[in-house]
Amino acid sequence: MAKDLITVTSPLLPDLDEFSSMLQDIWSSKWITNNGQFHRQLEKELAEYLGVPYVSLFTNGTLPLLTALQALRVTGEVITTPYSFVATTHCIWWSGCKPVFVDIDPATGNIDPEKIEAAITPKTTAIMPVHVYGKPCDTKRIQEIADKYGLKVIYDAAHAFGVKVNGESILNAGDMSTLSFHATKVYNTLEGGAMIMHDEATKKRIDYLKNFGFAGETEVIAPGINSKVDEVRAAYGILNLRQVDDAIEARHQVAIRYREALRDVDGITFMEDMPGVKHNYSYFPIFIDADKYGTTRDELYFRMKSENVLGRRYFYPLISEFTTYKGLPSASKDNLSNAHKMADSVICLPMHHALSEEDIERTLSLIVK
Ligand SMILES: *Cc1c(COP(=O)(O)O)cnc(C)c1O
Repeated sequence: MAKDLITVTSPLLPDLDEFSSMLQDIWSSKWITNNGQFHRQLEKELAEYLGVPYVSLFTNGTLPLLTALQALRVTGEVITTPYSFVATTHCIWWSGCKPVFVDIDPATGNIDPEKIEAAITPKTTAIMPVHVYGKPCDTKRIQEIADKYGLKVIYDAAHAFGVKVNGESILNAGDMSTLSFHATKVYNTLEGGAMIMHDEATKKRIDYLKNFGFAGETEVIAPGINSKVDEVRAAYGILNLRQVDDAIEARHQVAIRYREALRDVDGITFMEDMPGVKHNYSYFPIFIDADKYGTTRDELYFRMKSENVLGRRYFYPLISEFTTYKGLPSASKDNLSNAHKMADSVICLPMHHALSEEDIERTLSLIVK
Protein backbone atom coordinates (compact mmCIF):
# COMPACT_ATOMS: atom_id res chain seq x y z
CA MET A 1 0.00 0.00 0.00
CA ALA A 2 1.26 3.48 -0.84
CA LYS A 3 2.32 5.49 2.20
CA ASP A 4 0.46 8.69 3.10
CA LEU A 5 1.78 11.76 1.38
CA ILE A 6 3.85 14.11 3.55
CA THR A 7 3.83 17.49 1.86
CA VAL A 8 6.50 20.14 2.26
CA THR A 9 3.89 22.64 3.37
CA SER A 10 0.25 22.75 4.39
CA PRO A 11 -1.89 25.88 4.53
CA LEU A 12 -3.10 27.30 7.83
CA LEU A 13 -6.90 27.14 7.51
CA PRO A 14 -9.40 29.10 9.61
CA ASP A 15 -12.28 27.43 11.44
CA LEU A 16 -15.14 27.01 8.95
CA ASP A 17 -17.94 27.98 11.35
CA GLU A 18 -16.22 31.22 12.31
CA PHE A 19 -15.45 31.92 8.67
CA SER A 20 -19.03 31.35 7.62
CA SER A 21 -20.26 33.70 10.33
CA MET A 22 -17.98 36.40 8.88
CA LEU A 23 -19.28 35.60 5.41
CA GLN A 24 -22.79 36.26 6.74
CA ASP A 25 -21.63 39.73 7.81
CA ILE A 26 -20.18 40.40 4.36
CA TRP A 27 -23.35 39.18 2.66
CA SER A 28 -25.56 41.44 4.78
CA SER A 29 -23.33 44.48 4.32
CA LYS A 30 -23.11 43.87 0.54
CA TRP A 31 -19.66 45.54 0.70
CA ILE A 32 -17.42 42.89 -0.86
CA THR A 33 -14.29 44.79 -1.89
CA ASN A 34 -12.61 48.27 -2.06
CA ASN A 35 -11.29 48.90 1.46
CA GLY A 36 -14.18 47.33 3.35
CA GLN A 37 -14.58 46.83 7.08
CA PHE A 38 -12.59 43.58 7.31
CA HIS A 39 -9.89 44.99 5.03
CA ARG A 40 -9.37 47.94 7.38
CA GLN A 41 -9.50 45.66 10.42
CA LEU A 42 -6.89 43.26 9.02
CA GLU A 43 -4.48 46.07 8.11
CA LYS A 44 -4.75 47.39 11.66
CA GLU A 45 -4.37 44.01 13.33
CA LEU A 46 -1.44 43.04 11.13
CA ALA A 47 0.40 46.29 11.90
CA GLU A 48 -0.05 45.58 15.60
CA TYR A 49 0.92 41.93 15.35
CA LEU A 50 3.99 42.59 13.22
CA GLY A 51 5.11 45.66 15.16
CA VAL A 52 5.15 48.02 12.18
CA PRO A 53 3.51 51.44 11.71
CA TYR A 54 1.62 50.84 8.44
CA VAL A 55 0.46 47.90 6.35
CA SER A 56 -1.16 47.98 2.92
CA LEU A 57 -2.80 44.72 1.82
CA PHE A 58 -2.21 43.39 -1.70
CA THR A 59 -3.65 40.49 -3.69
CA ASN A 60 -0.31 38.63 -3.67
CA GLY A 61 3.34 39.07 -2.74
CA THR A 62 4.49 40.00 -6.22
CA LEU A 63 2.54 43.19 -6.91
CA PRO A 64 3.80 45.03 -3.78
CA LEU A 65 7.36 44.45 -5.05
CA LEU A 66 6.44 46.00 -8.38
CA THR A 67 4.55 48.84 -6.71
CA ALA A 68 7.48 49.56 -4.36
CA LEU A 69 9.81 49.94 -7.35
CA GLN A 70 7.29 52.28 -8.98
CA ALA A 71 6.60 54.33 -5.83
CA LEU A 72 10.32 54.82 -5.15
CA ARG A 73 10.88 55.72 -8.82
CA VAL A 74 13.57 53.11 -9.20
CA THR A 75 15.27 53.11 -12.62
CA GLY A 76 18.44 51.72 -14.23
CA GLU A 77 20.07 48.86 -12.32
CA VAL A 78 18.84 47.06 -9.23
CA ILE A 79 21.17 44.89 -7.15
CA THR A 80 19.58 41.66 -6.00
CA THR A 81 20.16 38.01 -5.13
CA PRO A 82 19.87 34.99 -7.44
CA TYR A 83 18.95 32.79 -4.44
CA SER A 84 15.23 33.48 -4.19
CA PHE A 85 11.88 32.76 -5.74
CA VAL A 86 11.77 34.00 -9.32
CA ALA A 87 9.21 36.76 -8.55
CA THR A 88 11.93 38.89 -6.93
CA THR A 89 13.84 39.35 -10.19
CA HIS A 90 10.73 39.32 -12.39
CA CYS A 91 9.54 42.52 -10.68
CA ILE A 92 12.82 44.25 -11.48
CA TRP A 93 12.40 43.17 -15.11
CA TRP A 94 8.73 44.26 -15.19
CA SER A 95 9.68 47.71 -13.92
CA GLY A 96 12.01 48.14 -16.89
CA CYS A 97 15.16 47.88 -14.77
CA LYS A 98 18.18 45.65 -15.14
CA PRO A 99 18.74 43.07 -12.39
CA VAL A 100 22.33 42.79 -11.18
CA PHE A 101 23.04 39.60 -9.25
CA VAL A 102 25.36 39.58 -6.25
CA ASP A 103 26.53 36.37 -4.55
CA ILE A 104 25.21 35.18 -1.20
CA ASP A 105 26.70 34.66 2.23
CA PRO A 106 26.94 30.87 2.61
CA ALA A 107 26.10 31.12 6.32
CA THR A 108 22.63 32.64 5.80
CA GLY A 109 21.73 32.29 2.13
CA ASN A 110 21.20 36.07 2.00
CA ILE A 111 22.92 38.57 -0.29
CA ASP A 112 26.51 39.15 0.90
CA PRO A 113 26.71 42.84 1.86
CA GLU A 114 30.47 42.81 1.38
CA LYS A 115 29.99 42.07 -2.33
CA ILE A 116 27.41 44.77 -3.01
CA GLU A 117 29.74 47.74 -3.47
CA ALA A 118 31.67 46.08 -6.29
CA ALA A 119 28.39 45.71 -8.23
CA ILE A 120 27.37 49.38 -7.93
CA THR A 121 27.62 51.46 -11.13
CA PRO A 122 26.44 55.02 -11.93
CA LYS A 123 23.16 53.43 -13.09
CA THR A 124 22.42 51.65 -9.78
CA THR A 125 19.43 53.14 -7.94
CA ALA A 126 18.27 50.39 -5.59
CA ILE A 127 19.06 47.18 -3.72
CA MET A 128 16.45 44.42 -3.43
CA PRO A 129 17.59 41.86 -0.85
CA VAL A 130 15.54 38.88 0.36
CA HIS A 131 15.37 37.54 3.94
CA VAL A 132 15.76 33.99 2.64
CA TYR A 133 14.02 31.31 4.79
CA GLY A 134 13.08 34.18 7.13
CA LYS A 135 16.74 34.60 8.23
CA PRO A 136 17.31 38.34 8.65
CA CYS A 137 19.69 40.08 6.24
CA ASP A 138 22.45 42.25 7.65
CA THR A 139 20.14 45.26 7.38
CA LYS A 140 22.55 47.62 9.15
CA ARG A 141 25.40 47.00 6.73
CA ILE A 142 23.08 47.14 3.71
CA GLN A 143 21.69 50.49 4.89
CA GLU A 144 25.21 51.91 5.33
CA ILE A 145 26.01 51.05 1.73
CA ALA A 146 22.66 52.39 0.49
CA ASP A 147 23.21 55.66 2.35
CA LYS A 148 26.76 56.03 1.03
CA TYR A 149 25.60 55.70 -2.60
CA GLY A 150 22.09 57.18 -2.28
CA LEU A 151 20.29 53.93 -3.08
CA LYS A 152 16.78 52.79 -2.16
CA VAL A 153 16.36 49.48 -0.32
CA ILE A 154 13.31 47.29 -0.86
CA TYR A 155 13.24 44.05 1.13
CA ASP A 156 11.43 41.07 -0.30
CA ALA A 157 10.30 39.80 3.10
CA ALA A 158 8.00 37.09 1.71
CA HIS A 159 9.56 34.56 4.13
CA ALA A 160 9.91 36.86 7.11
CA PHE A 161 6.39 37.16 8.54
CA GLY A 162 6.71 37.99 12.25
CA VAL A 163 10.51 37.83 12.33
CA LYS A 164 12.09 40.16 14.89
CA VAL A 165 15.65 41.12 15.74
CA ASN A 166 16.22 42.19 19.36
CA GLY A 167 12.48 42.77 19.68
CA GLU A 168 12.24 44.97 16.57
CA SER A 169 10.40 43.84 13.43
CA ILE A 170 12.75 43.08 10.55
CA LEU A 171 10.04 44.64 8.35
CA ASN A 172 10.99 48.12 9.57
CA ALA A 173 14.33 47.95 7.72
CA GLY A 174 14.94 49.67 4.41
CA ASP A 175 12.54 51.97 2.54
CA MET A 176 9.82 49.35 2.22
CA SER A 177 9.31 45.63 2.79
CA THR A 178 6.87 43.27 1.13
CA LEU A 179 5.16 40.12 2.39
CA SER A 180 3.49 37.19 0.65
CA PHE A 181 0.37 35.57 2.11
CA HIS A 182 0.35 32.73 -0.39
CA ALA A 183 -0.98 29.34 0.73
CA THR A 184 2.58 27.97 1.05
CA LYS A 185 3.70 30.65 3.50
CA VAL A 186 3.59 30.72 7.33
CA TYR A 187 0.54 32.98 7.21
CA ASN A 188 -1.86 32.97 4.28
CA THR A 189 -4.97 34.75 3.06
CA LEU A 190 -5.54 32.14 0.27
CA GLU A 191 -3.56 34.35 -2.11
CA GLY A 192 -2.39 37.66 -0.74
CA GLY A 193 0.43 39.92 0.29
CA ALA A 194 1.26 43.26 1.82
CA MET A 195 3.58 46.21 1.79
CA ILE A 196 5.09 47.65 4.96
CA MET A 197 5.98 51.33 5.03
CA HIS A 198 7.16 53.81 7.65
CA ASP A 199 4.93 56.88 7.26
CA GLU A 200 1.36 57.85 6.60
CA ALA A 201 2.04 59.76 3.37
CA THR A 202 3.65 56.67 1.82
CA LYS A 203 0.81 54.47 3.03
CA LYS A 204 -1.67 56.80 1.33
CA ARG A 205 0.28 56.84 -1.92
CA ILE A 206 0.60 53.05 -1.96
CA ASP A 207 -3.13 52.68 -1.31
CA TYR A 208 -3.74 54.86 -4.39
CA LEU A 209 -1.26 52.89 -6.49
CA LYS A 210 -2.95 49.55 -5.75
CA ASN A 211 -6.28 51.08 -6.83
CA PHE A 212 -5.34 52.23 -10.36
CA GLY A 213 -3.82 55.43 -8.92
CA PHE A 214 -7.21 56.82 -7.86
CA ALA A 215 -6.83 59.53 -5.20
CA GLY A 216 -10.51 60.49 -5.31
CA GLU A 217 -13.53 60.11 -7.53
CA THR A 218 -12.01 61.98 -10.45
CA GLU A 219 -8.29 62.19 -9.71
CA VAL A 220 -5.67 59.69 -10.86
CA ILE A 221 -2.16 60.47 -9.55
CA ALA A 222 -0.14 57.79 -11.39
CA PRO A 223 -0.57 54.71 -13.56
CA GLY A 224 -1.45 52.39 -10.69
CA ILE A 225 -2.27 48.71 -10.81
CA ASN A 226 -5.22 46.77 -9.43
CA SER A 227 -4.22 44.82 -6.32
CA LYS A 228 -7.20 45.43 -4.05
CA VAL A 229 -8.08 42.75 -1.51
CA ASP A 230 -11.70 41.66 -1.16
CA GLU A 231 -13.61 41.20 2.09
CA VAL A 232 -13.69 37.40 1.88
CA ARG A 233 -9.92 37.13 1.93
CA ALA A 234 -9.64 39.85 4.58
CA ALA A 235 -12.05 37.92 6.85
CA TYR A 236 -10.07 34.72 6.27
CA GLY A 237 -6.89 36.65 7.13
CA ILE A 238 -8.34 38.00 10.39
CA LEU A 239 -9.14 34.46 11.53
CA ASN A 240 -5.76 33.06 10.51
CA LEU A 241 -3.93 35.80 12.38
CA ARG A 242 -5.48 34.46 15.60
CA GLN A 243 -3.83 31.08 15.18
CA VAL A 244 -0.53 32.01 13.56
CA ASP A 245 1.41 32.11 16.86
CA ASP A 246 0.40 28.52 17.61
CA ALA A 247 1.35 27.53 14.07
CA ILE A 248 4.80 29.09 14.43
CA GLU A 249 5.32 27.33 17.78
CA ALA A 250 4.34 24.01 16.17
CA ARG A 251 6.91 24.66 13.42
CA HIS A 252 9.51 25.49 16.08
CA GLN A 253 8.96 22.07 17.66
CA VAL A 254 9.46 20.40 14.27
CA ALA A 255 12.74 22.31 13.83
CA ILE A 256 13.92 21.22 17.29
CA ARG A 257 13.30 17.54 16.45
CA TYR A 258 14.90 17.79 13.00
CA ARG A 259 18.02 19.41 14.46
CA GLU A 260 18.30 16.86 17.24
CA ALA A 261 18.11 13.96 14.79
CA LEU A 262 20.35 15.47 12.10
CA ARG A 263 23.05 16.98 14.27
CA ASP A 264 25.38 14.01 14.05
CA VAL A 265 24.68 12.92 10.48
CA ASP A 266 27.90 13.14 8.49
CA GLY A 267 27.54 15.24 5.34
CA ILE A 268 24.32 17.02 6.35
CA THR A 269 24.28 20.57 7.67
CA PHE A 270 21.46 22.94 8.57
CA MET A 271 20.99 26.45 9.91
CA GLU A 272 20.85 27.21 13.63
CA ASP A 273 18.71 29.91 15.22
CA MET A 274 20.45 33.30 15.25
CA PRO A 275 21.05 35.00 18.62
CA GLY A 276 18.50 37.74 19.42
CA VAL A 277 16.22 36.70 16.55
CA LYS A 278 12.59 35.64 16.85
CA HIS A 279 12.36 33.15 14.00
CA ASN A 280 9.22 31.99 12.19
CA TYR A 281 10.51 28.54 11.09
CA SER A 282 9.09 29.13 7.63
CA TYR A 283 11.47 26.59 6.04
CA PHE A 284 13.87 23.90 7.19
CA PRO A 285 16.63 23.65 4.58
CA ILE A 286 19.27 20.94 4.87
CA PHE A 287 22.47 20.91 2.80
CA ILE A 288 23.96 17.69 1.47
CA ASP A 289 27.70 17.22 1.03
CA ALA A 290 27.54 14.17 -1.27
CA ASP A 291 31.18 13.14 -0.64
CA LYS A 292 30.65 12.84 3.09
CA TYR A 293 27.00 11.73 3.05
CA GLY A 294 27.56 9.13 0.34
CA THR A 295 24.42 10.07 -1.54
CA THR A 296 23.85 13.06 -3.80
CA ARG A 297 21.23 15.70 -3.08
CA ASP A 298 19.12 14.61 -6.03
CA GLU A 299 19.36 10.93 -5.09
CA LEU A 300 18.06 11.76 -1.63
CA TYR A 301 15.39 14.10 -3.00
CA PHE A 302 14.01 11.49 -5.40
CA ARG A 303 14.29 8.68 -2.84
CA MET A 304 12.15 10.75 -0.46
CA LYS A 305 9.72 11.48 -3.27
CA SER A 306 9.40 7.79 -4.13
CA GLU A 307 8.43 7.22 -0.48
CA ASN A 308 5.78 9.97 -0.69
CA VAL A 309 7.80 12.43 1.40
CA LEU A 310 8.01 15.67 -0.52
CA GLY A 311 10.92 18.02 0.01
CA ARG A 312 11.56 21.03 -2.21
CA ARG A 313 14.84 22.07 -3.77
CA TYR A 314 14.37 25.77 -2.88
CA PHE A 315 16.11 27.60 -4.58
CA TYR A 316 17.23 25.42 -7.42
CA PRO A 317 17.77 26.37 -10.18
CA LEU A 318 19.01 29.85 -9.28
CA ILE A 319 17.03 32.72 -10.82
CA SER A 320 20.18 33.62 -12.77
CA GLU A 321 19.97 30.24 -14.55
CA PHE A 322 16.55 30.90 -16.12
CA THR A 323 16.57 31.77 -19.83
CA THR A 324 15.50 35.39 -19.32
CA TYR A 325 18.42 36.20 -17.03
CA LYS A 326 21.14 33.75 -18.02
CA GLY A 327 22.72 36.16 -20.51
CA LEU A 328 23.33 38.95 -17.97
CA PRO A 329 27.02 39.46 -17.15
CA SER A 330 26.24 39.22 -13.41
CA ALA A 331 24.58 35.81 -13.98
CA SER A 332 27.90 34.09 -14.66
CA LYS A 333 28.68 31.10 -12.50
CA ASP A 334 32.02 32.60 -11.38
CA ASN A 335 30.20 35.60 -9.96
CA LEU A 336 27.76 33.46 -7.98
CA SER A 337 29.75 30.50 -6.70
CA ASN A 338 28.27 30.45 -3.16
CA ALA A 339 24.74 30.64 -4.54
CA HIS A 340 25.44 27.75 -6.92
CA LYS A 341 26.87 25.67 -4.11
CA MET A 342 23.79 26.22 -1.95
CA ALA A 343 21.32 25.67 -4.80
CA ASP A 344 23.05 22.39 -5.70
CA SER A 345 23.03 21.01 -2.16
CA VAL A 346 19.71 22.12 -0.64
CA ILE A 347 16.54 20.25 0.22
CA CYS A 348 13.82 21.99 2.23
CA LEU A 349 12.24 19.33 4.45
CA PRO A 350 8.50 19.13 5.14
CA MET A 351 7.80 22.04 7.51
CA HIS A 352 4.36 23.10 8.66
CA HIS A 353 2.10 23.33 11.71
CA ALA A 354 0.21 20.11 11.00
CA LEU A 355 3.10 17.61 10.83
CA SER A 356 2.53 14.71 13.19
CA GLU A 357 5.31 13.03 15.17
CA GLU A 358 4.90 10.07 12.84
CA ASP A 359 5.37 12.32 9.78
CA ILE A 360 8.53 13.78 11.27
CA GLU A 361 10.01 10.39 12.18
CA ARG A 362 9.14 8.92 8.79
CA THR A 363 10.85 11.86 7.08
CA LEU A 364 13.94 11.50 9.28
CA SER A 365 14.11 7.74 8.76
CA LEU A 366 14.76 8.37 5.06
CA ILE A 367 17.64 10.76 5.79
CA VAL A 368 19.37 9.42 8.92
CA LYS A 369 21.30 6.31 7.98
C1 LIG B 1 6.25 33.52 -2.41
C2 LIG B 1 7.31 34.53 -2.78
C3 LIG B 1 7.03 35.65 -3.58
C4 LIG B 1 5.76 35.82 -4.32
O1 LIG B 1 4.64 35.86 -3.57
P1 LIG B 1 3.23 35.53 -4.25
O2 LIG B 1 2.28 35.80 -3.13
O3 LIG B 1 3.25 34.09 -4.66
O4 LIG B 1 3.05 36.45 -5.39
C5 LIG B 1 8.03 36.60 -3.78
N1 LIG B 1 9.26 36.44 -3.25
C6 LIG B 1 9.57 35.37 -2.51
C7 LIG B 1 10.94 35.27 -1.94
C8 LIG B 1 8.62 34.36 -2.26
O5 LIG B 1 8.97 33.27 -1.57
